[in-house]
Amino acid sequence: CGIVGYAGTGTAVAGGPDASERPLEVALAGLKRLEYRGYDSAGVALVGPGRPEAAFAKKSGKLDNLVAEIAAHPLPAATAAIGHTRWATHGGPTDTNAHPHLADGDRLAVIHNGIIENYSELRDSLTADGVTFLSDTDTEVAAQLLAREYRAAGDLATAMAATARQLTGTFTLLAVHADAPQTVVGARHDSPLVVGLGEGENFLGSDVAAFVEHTKEALELGQDQIVTITPDAVTVTDFDGAPAEGKRFTVDWDAAA
Ligand code: GLU
Repeated sequence: CGIVGYAGTGTAVAGGPDASERPLEVALAGLKRLEYRGYDSAGVALVGPGRPEAAFAKKSGKLDNLVAEIAAHPLPAATAAIGHTRWATHGGPTDTNAHPHLADGDRLAVIHNGIIENYSELRDSLTADGVTFLSDTDTEVAAQLLAREYRAAGDLATAMAATARQLTGTFTLLAVHADAPQTVVGARHDSPLVVGLGEGENFLGSDVAAFVEHTKEALELGQDQIVTITPDAVTVTDFDGAPAEGKRFTVDWDAAA
């Protein structure tokens, strides 16, 4: 339902350490701003330098439940984050069905807005490969498919494009992988995704509310595009990996409103 992504260096805030609290803060603040859309669960995933796995927390119910969970079990400093508020379509609103969904030995974390129509066939194919599913969601199928493609491609953006080509339905997908701690990769098909352009940090959101308090410079992605953000770069391709362009605009919106 609501999607936030962040990639920074940890030093984007002057004098900061190599990894910081900022990715988590940006993710939670973005989810707070997206609350108006309605949701039944919330979660975040973080990656950082030298950390072998993605760290994550997810809870059914209000964002406050997630914040309390993180207060009880603190998450490590990070360089990139993804955050999600879920409106359940496949699988009830439980902690396990909340996003992110983890794959590749908890090194890969995925969040998703929309519905994967062909999840059942894909799930059968992945199960035949030996994959065990933890949740009842269509999203976990996309996460496991991305993990399979990542093992084949060795590059998250290439794997995301290969995954997107196999999915039918509606989706905005974001992923982080422990191998690329300063990177968030996204895909969109019949569901919105916007980039927020910062200095030494970049943002992603299902709408500009996710990041408007940090930057008003934005890039709207087109249909069937893949985006990769790092602290210093935004790269857009189509689902075949060919270079593509989003549409630049400046948010005409007072963040204080
Ligand atoms: N279909 C997914 C699920 O039920 C995503 C729902 C959403 O857009 O929040 O988990």
